[in-house]
Amino acid sequence: SNFFSKKFIELSKMGGDIRRIFMLGQKLKLNNPDIDLIDLSLGNPDLEPPIQINNLLIHLLSSYEKGCHRYMDSAGLEDARTFLAAELTKSEKVKISSNSVYLTVGAAGAIQILLRAFLDKDDEVIIFSPFFPEYIPYAENFGAKPIIVKCDDTHQPIIQDFEKKITNKTKVVIMNSPNNPSGIAYSRETLESIISVLMKRKEKNGQVIQLLSDEPYSRVIYKEEKITPLLSLYRNTWLVRSFSKDLGLAGERIGYIAWRNEPAFAEAQNAFRNSSRVLGFVSAPRLMQRLIPMIYNTKIDVKIYEKRVESFVKILRTGGIDVKLPDAGFFVFPKTPIVNDRKFCEDLVNIGVLCVPGSAFGSPGYFRASLTQEQDKVELAAHRIIEFTKSNNY
Ligand code: PLP
Repeated sequence: SNFFSKKFIELSKMGGDIRRIFMLGQKLKLNNPDIDLIDLSLGNPDLEPPIQINNLLIHLLSSYEKGCHRYMDSAGLEDARTFLAAELTKSEKVKISSNSVYLTVGAAGAIQILLRAFLDKDDEVIIFSPFFPEYIPYAENFGAKPIIVKCDDTHQPIIQDFEKKITNKTKVVIMNSPNNPSGIAYSRETLESIISVLMKRKEKNGQVIQLLSDEPYSRVIYKEEKITPLLSLYRNTWLVRSFSKDLGLAGERIGYIAWRNEPAFAEAQNAFRNSSRVLGFVSAPRLMQRLIPMIYNTKIDVKIYEKRVESFVKILRTGGIDVKLPDAGFFVFPKTPIVNDRKFCEDLVNIGVLCVPGSAFGSPGYFRASLTQEQDKVELAAHRIIEFTKSNNY
């Protein structure tokens, strides 16, 4: 593989923990073909999209119009943008127009477009741990430097640490609430403190820091009131959303960026058109853009994820494992009963449970279970984990 660039090989080191667990699982399966391996390692949502999706797609394909598969405005179809702008104006409590919405290839594509548009070499990007592991190579790919700020035991960012880590080079803060891997939504208090630090920085130094709020789990929250609309609190907020989780469309790659409709951001949409051209996305998948307005107001049944999460947490707690109850989605992020989270997860492979060590997310001493299996499997995995923990006297 010596034809790959040095930079690329460096970036590829990300994901090593997840790969190692996967390989160990493969090896175990090879040696014990009958083992009932419960894979809680990958964040691939298993709930199917709302049932009407197939008929809607058939309808879209049968109402064929000339040109409906062509290139289009990179920002997305006007109808889809207008629809989302109206929905977001209601939910985010600020004015958003079709000119302040940009359709993307999932949340991942949205983050690329924003980082390409904002980052210069040696800029600093603040990321709160635990974090979505891809953020590190995403920032490094543009020559920027990820700066990690830790969360406390309740998975809320430590504000003093955040304040200390801001420098003149800080260009972007990436925030992800509700969070992968913790499943926790940052509290209103935490968010207001983060924003107050950013505003203070602007007042004192004239430094405007961009807040990239990555929210693919916002619509799989169990209690609506746990969501704090950020766009209304901080002007330079760039909201990133996708339909991978709430509509179960992860493989169809559709998401968007939204920001305030203000004269100061008049250039943004055009900048993102250039950004997606540079990156080669060109635009988000067109068929999915036509689908979204038809299906936006339905969702997968979030209760199913919530029930899995509740039973998993309940069983782990009976075994003395320290775990916070998530606010959204299908991830649970318990403390490992031994210090070495990598060893703990490797040992779990031998009892037929695949989980990812917290180190993969910048938080050693924890492990992530992705509850993307049926309820009975999830419960069986939890029982295996506590039996293993007890038999080792952890
Ligand atoms: N951001 C976070 C925090 C995620 O967990 C994921 C996917 O797991 C993504 C972004 C990427 O989402 P998408 O499928 O919409 O690109």
